[in-house]
Parts: sequence; structure tokens; C-alpha cells
Amino acid sequence: ERKAALAATTGPGATSDGHKVPLLANVGGPADVPAAVEAGAEGVGLFRTEFLFLDDSTKAPTEEKQVDAYRQVLEAFPEGRVVVRVLDAGADKPLDFLTPADEPNPALGVRGLRSLLDHPEVLRTQLSALAKAAEGLPVYLEVMAPMVADRTDAKAFADACREAGLQAKFGAMVEIPSAALRARSILQEVEFLSLGTNDLAQYTFAADRQVGAVSRLQDPWQPALLDLVALSAESAKAEGKSCGVCGEAASDPLLACVLTGLGVTSLSMGAASIPYVRATLGKYTLAQCERAAAAARAADSAEEARKAAHAVLSGE
Ligand code: PEP
Ligand code: MG
Repeated sequence: ERKAALAATTGPGATSDGHKVPLLANVGGPADVPAAVEAGAEGVGLFRTEFLFLDDSTKAPTEEKQVDAYRQVLEAFPEGRVVVRVLDAGADKPLDFLTPADEPNPALGVRGLRSLLDHPEVLRTQLSALAKAAEGLPVYLEVMAPMVADRTDAKAFADACREAGLQAKFGAMVEIPSAALRARSILQEVEFLSLGTNDLAQYTFAADRQVGAVSRLQDPWQPALLDLVALSAESAKAEGKSCGVCGEAASDPLLACVLTGLGVTSLSMGAASIPYVRATLGKYTLAQCERAAAAARAADSAEEARKAAHAVLSGE
């Protein structure tokens, strides 16, 4: 019965009073596309391009191989949005040809955009492959960089995109607290923000996402994390730009309502979560989501934040 009720929820993501929040899919490559289409994803909010590079850790895949993979994903969402993240190597995803072997703290070392700025030829090839893949397609391509720390990073990425002749919107992921704190400055260089709440939690709480013993601090309901989400979303609004979430936080239906209340403009998640988030979001007005968000931020722990949001939305 629950399954039937969920299957009945189709269409674009929105609150009960019609405030639209596009529900997008996180994909790792062409193999994830059918599930995303079936779930009614309005596009792709995070295409993790690492998968293409993980087959062979000694060198980058050829431009042709990349064009082929990118095109398969782009073709699946005609008229839709596809947000491609450039290679996010290092830390938990080391690549021999990119990642320094001797880092004492790989999560704080040369990873994400930092690796690409150290190896501009790898970034150039990837951007050129994306430009070719999008050629002639009506898709709305957006390209974003992982691990942007400040405006200097954002400018370096935007410059590389322009030099590659990419017809797309350029964005920055907010995964480091400095990026949330200075979001307005970063938005002088790029056109959108996307919050990677997994890494943002890791760096806000100094809690390694791979270490189970500190998982309490990885909880995306932590009020400090919600504060950084709010700051990013408010900064984007002040600049007339968008701010989505593509971390795991977006896949929790109750938290998705809170994120909407904080001002987040799109939610990207694993395809399997989309029907649940769509159904829950559709039950509440934007004002209810805003009240739930305020209650969650007023809490002093993740657990209290969750309870407070639940109490507001269930009318307790
Ligand atoms: C994140 O950090 O929240 C994110 C979306 O990127 P990844 O999980 O691939 O690091
Ligand atoms: Mg990340």
C-alpha cells in the first residue's frame, strides 16, 4: 500500500503550496541513469565523474572515452539539468597519477580541485570532453568543482572552464566551512553553489567520514551544519543565484523539508530516495518548512534538531 502511494507521487518536487524544489539524482555514470529516469528525477544534481578514473589509477582515461560516458548521461535528460562534477580525487579516492603518496592527512591535502589545479592538463581534457559531449544537445549543462576553499579557487576553476570554451554554468561545491562563510565572495566568480554535506560535516566537526567512532559528528542534523547551510543559501539568494544540496542530507525526507525551509533551491540524492522525498515535501507548505528549519537550528544537538523539526511538521 505504501509502495502504491509512493508510486502515485510523480511530477516535479514542490511543497504543498507550490514552492518548487527540483529533485535531482546523484549518479556515478551511465549505469545509474535508468533508475534516475524511473524515479522521475528532474535531472542530475551530482554526476560523480570519479568512476571513469578509478578503473586505471595510473593515467587519466582518454578524451574519447570521457566524451562517450558524459554523452550517455547528458542524452538521458533532454531539456533537463545535468550538473557534472569534475574529478574529485584524493583522500578517500586516491589516484596514483594525481594524489601525492606521502601526505600525513590526505583529507586535508591535495584533493578535489587542488589536484586538478596541480595537473591542469587533466582538468583541460575533462572540460574539453564535456564541451564535446554537450555539443548539439538541448541539455542544460552545469559544471562544478569539488573542494573549493575560497574565491581564488573559484576563479581558477571558472577561468579553466572559459578557456575550454565550455557553454555551461560554472559552480562551486560548498564542502569546506571557509566556502560557506565566504559564499558571497565565491559567488562573484561562479553562478551557483552546491552543498556537499558529507564533506562539509567532516570539515566542520573535524570528524573523518571514514571513521565510525566519530560518526555522531557526521550527523547532518547537527545544528552547526544547518547554520552553514542557511548561510550559504542566504548568500546565494542575496546574489540572485541558486544553492542546492547534493550530499546525503538531501535523501532524508524530513531533513529535505528543513533544507527547503533554510532556503536551499534544489535537492540531489540517490534515485531510490526521490519518491520518498517528493511525497514528504508535498505534504507541507514552505512556511511549515521554514518553521521546522528554525526549530531545528534552535536545538543543541542533532537528535534534538530532528525531534524539533518532527514536532513542528506533525503539528505537535
Ligand atoms: C559530499 O561531500 O557531500 C559530496 C556530495 O561529495 P562526495 O560524497 O562525493 O565527497
Ligand atoms: Mg565531497
